[in-house]
Amino acid sequence: MTLSPSAKAILKVLVEHIQTNQFDASNPATFIGYKRVHDILNLPMSAQTYGESLERQGLGKLADWTKKHRFPAITGLIIDTGTHVPGGGYFRMFDKDYEKDLKWWLKEIEKSLQFDWLPYLKEKDDNVPADDLVSLEPQDVETPQAIDINKPNPPTRVMYNTYRRLRDTALARRVKLLYNNRCQICGETIMLYGGELYSEAHHIQPLGAPHNGPDVMGNILCVCPNHHVQLDYGAIELNIVELTIVPEHKLGDEYIHYHNLHIYKGS
Ligand SMILES: [Zn+2]
Repeated sequence: MTLSPSAKAILKVLVEHIQTNQFDASNPATFIGYKRVHDILNLPMSAQTYGESLERQGLGKLADWTKKHRFPAITGLIIDTGTHVPGGGYFRMFDKDYEKDLKWWLKEIEKSLQFDWLPYLKEKDDNVPADDLVSLEPQDVETPQAIDINKPNPPTRVMYNTYRRLRDTALARRVKLLYNNRCQICGETIMLYGGELYSEAHHIQPLGAPHNGPDVMGNILCVCPNHHVQLDYGAIELNIVELTIVPEHKLGDEYIHYHNLHIYKGS
């Protein structure tokens, strides 16, 4: 049973969040809301609630797929942000009880965080039912395996790796799409073999400790690799009036200030 494109799009969002260590299996408050996933995928509202709408547009199929393959029930990472528990449909799907099986749910999440989902995200989309195409993500949001930044080691060490791993979040890819991979600082893009354009997404206030910046569009810039390195290493200041900014992209002043105050070395 192949994963349908709509189900795969949801799986991809979850796996991306797993890869950036956003989920803590022992703390459901770190899980992701139905509305958030719905928003990330830019889905049309197709039911009364975000949960039901998502269920119809891939979530049901994803749950079904994990069940048939006896994979961890990863759809439980998507929760009602009011209760911090998935909807009743999740438990019913796996013949569990909403009241009694919370331990089972968290065990499934623990397994989901350790499971290797990547091979299933790479499978080709064969035999796609037509009704499934509506929620396909645009193909051009696929970028070469990108990465988050390993910060240089603390200055007390003499040697450090300059190896940078980049991994884009769904939002990062969306920002790159808004600018058609052109650097917001210099306007440059990089053309790869075959005409594909390449850019990098920079979280202005970096994700993860110690900066703990949020993964929101207002905190993301589309930049060329040169400017990306300069930003990461605090070599340049950010000046909002000098950036190219499209109207759909509201940059957060607070993140710009953060960069200039805490990342920029000349501050
Ligand atoms: Zn640039």
